[in-house]
Amino acid sequence: MHNPFKNAMAQLDKVAKINKSFSAEFIKRMRQPDRDIRISIPIKMDDGSLRVFEGYRVEYNNALGPYKGGIRYHLDTEINEVKALAFWMALKCAVAGIPMGGGKGGVTVDPKKLSKGELEKLSRGWVQKLSDILGPYKDVPAPDVNTTPEIMAWMADEYKKITKNKNINETRATFTGKPIDKGGSEGRGPATGLGGFYAFDALRKELKLPEECKVVVQGFGNVGGNVARIFTENKHKVIAVSDSKSAIFNKNGLDLEGVENYKKKTGSFKNFPGAKNITNAELLELPCDLLIPAAFENVITEKNAGKIKAKAILELANGPTTPEADEILFKKDIPVVPDILANSGGVVVSYFEWDQNLKNKHWSEEKVFEKLNKIMKGASKKMLEKTKKTKTSLRMGAFILALERIKEKIL
Ligand code: GLU
Repeated sequence: MHNPFKNAMAQLDKVAKINKSFSAEFIKRMRQPDRDIRISIPIKMDDGSLRVFEGYRVEYNNALGPYKGGIRYHLDTEINEVKALAFWMALKCAVAGIPMGGGKGGVTVDPKKLSKGELEKLSRGWVQKLSDILGPYKDVPAPDVNTTPEIMAWMADEYKKITKNKNINETRATFTGKPIDKGGSEGRGPATGLGGFYAFDALRKELKLPEECKVVVQGFGNVGGNVARIFTENKHKVIAVSDSKSAIFNKNGLDLEGVENYKKKTGSFKNFPGAKNITNAELLELPCDLLIPAAFENVITEKNAGKIKAKAILELANGPTTPEADEILFKKDIPVVPDILANSGGVVVSYFEWDQNLKNKHWSEEKVFEKLNKIMKGASKKMLEKTKKTKTSLRMGAFILALERIKEKIL
C-alpha cells in the first residue's frame, strides 16, 4: 500500500537538501501537522442497520491564515493520505499567495453505494463531530474528490444549527464550494481546471510547447472534465481521456462534446465510436505535448516514468508523481508543473468565496476569472524565477517559494 505522506516528506527532505537556508528546526516543524483528528460517524442506514464510518480532519499549518482544504469521500482515504493532502494545501495556499493555511478532511467510504439520505446523514455527522474546530477564522473546509456543492450546503447548514451563530456571513464563510444560492462563488466549479489552464498559458513558451497542443487527460471528475473542455475551447486537441473504468484515444483529437454525452448515457467511455479503447497505463504513456493527471496520487511512478512520452506534465491531481518518478522525469528533461501551483485555482476561488461571504458581496464570473488569472500568472512567474535561481525543478522552485513564505511567519 502506498503512503502519500511518506512521499510528501521525501519532497520536504529534498528541498531541505537543496536549500540550506531552511534550518533543521524549521524542517522538523514542517514534518508534523498541528493536529490530526480521527472521528467515528455512526449512521442509521436505510435498511435500519447501523454503520460506523471513519472520518478525519488534519490541520497542518495555519501560519498564513485559517486552515483550508477539501473533504474527500473515498474508500482508499486514510489518515496518511489526508495528512499528505493537508501538507500540500499549506504549500498550495502559500504559492498562490492567499492568506490561508493548510488542512484536509475525509471519510473512508464509497459514496456511490450510499442513498442520498445516507450521504446527507454522513455529511452532517462529520460536522457534528468537528464543529468545535471549524469556523471562518479557524478552519474552512471545501469540496474534494466525490464531495459536491450540495454536500457543502448540508455541512454549512449543520454548522449553523450547532453553533447557533446568527451571523449568516460567518456561517457561510465556514465552508466554500457551496451552491450559488447558498453563498457560493461564481466560477468555483471550473476553478481548478481553469486555474490549471491559466498556469499552462503563463508557462507555455517556457515549457517549449506549441500554440496548439495535443493533450492527454487522466480522470474525468470535476477537474478532469473541466480541464478537457477548457483546453478544447482554447484550440488545443484533447487526444485521450479516461475515467476509473475506461480510457479512449484518437490521435486526431476527440469530439469532446460527443464524448461527454456518451459518458452520460453509457456511464463510461468504453467503445466510444471514432476512438480506440486503451488501458489507463497506455494512456499515461501516449506521445503528446501535455499530459494532465487529474485523478489520484501515485500514478506516475518509477515503473512508468521512463516510458512517459509527453513533452510536459501539468499536475491537476494532488500528488500524482512519486519522488522517484520526479527524478526520472527531471533527467529526461520533461518539465512537471507541480500540483501545488497547477491545481491551486480551486482553493484560490474558495478564498474569493470566503472573502465575498464575510463582506456580504457577490462578484461576477468575469471578475472572479480575471482575479484568478492574475493570481495564477503571478504565482507561475514567481515559481519560475525561483526555479531558475536555484537551478532545480519547477516542483522544488514552488516548494522553496512556499516554504519561505511560511517560514517568515512562524520563526
Ligand atoms: N480540494 C481542493 C484542493 O485540493 C480545493 C480546496 C479548497 O477549495 O479549499 O485544492
